[in-house]
Amino acid sequence: MIDQEVKRRRTFAIISHPDAGKTTLTEKLLMFAGAIHIAGSVKARKASRYATSDWMEIEKQRGISVASSVMQMEYRDHVINLLDTPGHQDFSEDTYRVLTAVDAALMVIDAANGVEAQTLRLLEVCRARNTPILTFINKMDREVRNPLDLIDEIERTLDMATIPFTWPIGMGKQFHGVFDLQHHCMRVFHPGADRVENENEMIISNLDDQAMIERFGESFIEARQEIDLIRGVSPEFDRDAFLAGKQTPVFFGSAINNFGVREILDALIELAPPPKSRKSIQREVPPVEPKFSGVVFKIQANMNPAHRDRIAFVRICSGEFKRGMNLKIVRSGKEVRTNTVVSFLSQRRELLEVAYAGDIIGIPNHGTLQLGDTLTEGETLHFTGLPFFAPEIFQTVEIADPMRSKQLKLGLTQLGEEGAIQVFRPHIGSSLLLGAVGNLQFEVVTHRLQHEYGVDARIATAKYQLARWITANDPQELQRFIDSNAHRIAYDAVDAPTFLASFAAEISVAKENWPAISFHKMREHA
Ligand code: GDP
Repeated sequence: MIDQEVKRRRTFAIISHPDAGKTTLTEKLLMFAGAIHIAGSVKARKASRYATSDWMEIEKQRGISVASSVMQMEYRDHVINLLDTPGHQDFSEDTYRVLTAVDAALMVIDAANGVEAQTLRLLEVCRARNTPILTFINKMDREVRNPLDLIDEIERTLDMATIPFTWPIGMGKQFHGVFDLQHHCMRVFHPGADRVENENEMIISNLDDQAMIERFGESFIEARQEIDLIRGVSPEFDRDAFLAGKQTPVFFGSAINNFGVREILDALIELAPPPKSRKSIQREVPPVEPKFSGVVFKIQANMNPAHRDRIAFVRICSGEFKRGMNLKIVRSGKEVRTNTVVSFLSQRRELLEVAYAGDIIGIPNHGTLQLGDTLTEGETLHFTGLPFFAPEIFQTVEIADPMRSKQLKLGLTQLGEEGAIQVFRPHIGSSLLLGAVGNLQFEVVTHRLQHEYGVDARIATAKYQLARWITANDPQELQRFIDSNAHRIAYDAVDAPTFLASFAAEISVAKENWPAISFHKMREHA
């Protein structure tokens, strides 16, 4: 029973740069899977987000964003969990952490722009975990870049072999559709066919078909040459290489025109993996084990700031979840009751009555659950792999009223636990450093310090821009490094030492001078 439930689950996230078409594609995937009411709320969410550049509006949207953080749909007897990666103005560390809770990622690329900055940042996380990646090249109905160029760029920037599953015939006004290289047929594009019922016209054909050349003209001949080239250079699709994150299947389409959407759903079912075993310090935990286990990968403050209520997002790693069951927080030994799990968007109401490995549950709490916590039915397990990323922006924090310094500390500790910001304590000196990957995080933190903790905090640019966690096999060597660089050392929330720098070159120099010290961009929660 559990075995079957796990096998039919696919949990993934979309990674993309703003405006590549993530919202549109999400909506279309939901529509094709028959979850039309959910699709509407996805679009509404983006509209409200874009209606304002004011992040306080985003705060108001928290309620909506909890619900749409996880979208569950059923397709071809499979259960697909799509996890939203906040990735617009509200880019934050959460965006990264969500990627630790998925089994595959779908990379959406705007065919006019190729691989863009934000996509690259997110890809780094996928690569560190060998997450399999499917690629969708969107907006072929526009005048875009040459597909060979795009493929080449993806290969170079991802350091991964691209395996085109479809190939575009023309683009823009001359976009005629895609040639399906796996099934040897042409899917014909009809612009504006903005309905699910309008299945694409399909022509079984080979590439030498004279009728095709007559119908689609120059674009078909060109595409044929490109396909010849591609076939000559790309390796065969190898599922193991894909699952190891070494090959990415590539699909071309136009999300807004519903074109190429069904192929993505099919690829998720046929190619993307079901939940795998997860590593814990004690042992590997297979997803089909009868006993429940899960890990907290995201904490979100909820609607009412006065109550400091939070929702812990838990990725189920094994077993069966039943609403109301008691779960043990391994870190603290405390128990949580799960009567009031939060519902996410789903096609079926019973989502949160039972759930299996790969599914996400949201547990409301007041701080009993922390990032990286493992939940079990009693066994002592600590899942590993929840990363903290080296901040890319630093600010110092000071308070107007020194009498409130206790509140400041409390506020920063709690916001740090939530993962809203990273707090560093310098080895020398007293003013705390805040680190983040997105600027919005600072705004949210100052606002919340004021409203939830009554602290007027002033943040100012710090002179450091980079941090690396430092370790060494020899503790004495690490101490020598810390002593020699005392003014550049700071400790994070769990007292792990970091080396601070203003320029990347300073890190290179330190590496050269101190070969026995390792510098890390990522720290895993233990
Ligand atoms: P997101 O920021 O990645 O979520 O992107 P959206 O889904 O909001 O899309 C950004 C813009 O691109 C919107 O104006 C969409 O209507 C448009 N768009 C999305 N897909 C396509 C497509 O296939 N073709 C064209 N021409 N525009 C598209």
